[in-house]
Amino acid sequence: MEIFAIPAFTDNYIWAVVEKDQFVVVDPGDSLVVKEFAEKNNLQLRAILITHWHPDHTGGIIELVKDKSISVYGPKGGHIDGITDELKEGDSIRIFDNEFSIFETPGHTLDHISYFSNENKPILFCGDTLFSGGCGRLFEGTPDQMFHSLNKFSSLPGNTKVYCTHEYTLSNLKFALEVEPKNQDLINYYDQVVEKRDRNEYTLPSTIEKELNINPFLRSSIEEVRKSAELYSSKANLDDVGVLAVIRSWKDNF
Ligand code: ZN
Ligand code: FE
Repeated sequence: MEIFAIPAFTDNYIWAVVEKDQFVVVDPGDSLVVKEFAEKNNLQLRAILITHWHPDHTGGIIELVKDKSISVYGPKGGHIDGITDELKEGDSIRIFDNEFSIFETPGHTLDHISYFSNENKPILFCGDTLFSGGCGRLFEGTPDQMFHSLNKFSSLPGNTKVYCTHEYTLSNLKFALEVEPKNQDLINYYDQVVEKRDRNEYTLPSTIEKELNINPFLRSSIEEVRKSAELYSSKANLDDVGVLAVIRSWKDNF
């Protein structure tokens, strides 16, 4: 099983899980690039995984499943056209040889789910919940929901590969450096990411270990992050959720 990025729109990645002559895609917002990938590599689409309802993640479903019987896994609720298998917290599905467990991860949207496999090498498809150096905007959920969603990721194995849906890393890190200007891991990572983007390389997947060291949205219990949030908001004694709420709205206005 190998995982490839299919770039879509301006900064989306549609992740393709490939096994022999078959593949599965995560969040196909655009059917065209997926079909091109299939043709170019002589692959047959077997299933689709969906993390949340936003059109840049779901827009290609109907076209891709046309005249075929393809399982489309996604959030429960019946609000996304084309879903055949509705998933909730604690469910698990088999993709090729790997079992993926489902986490409900509301915050960016209320329906957001993530897919985690702990077989062989741990893998996380986290949609727009966690980004490298950042997290999704709170379009529907609360800071409290996002905090608990991100907490589910924090306890995963450090070597878990994190497949986020957007190439937002560089701009996320510019903001992260405002929050933690003295974080040496962050400074080093920023330099690496600048070089990668200069060479037009992808910065994803990341890892949980990396994110725990550099991502302010996973670090609300760290002293420097809390102090920055308190300074920015002119509030004292913020708890972890309060810190997350402040840095999320700070980022929205950054
Ligand atoms: Zn989204
Ligand atoms: Fe998105």
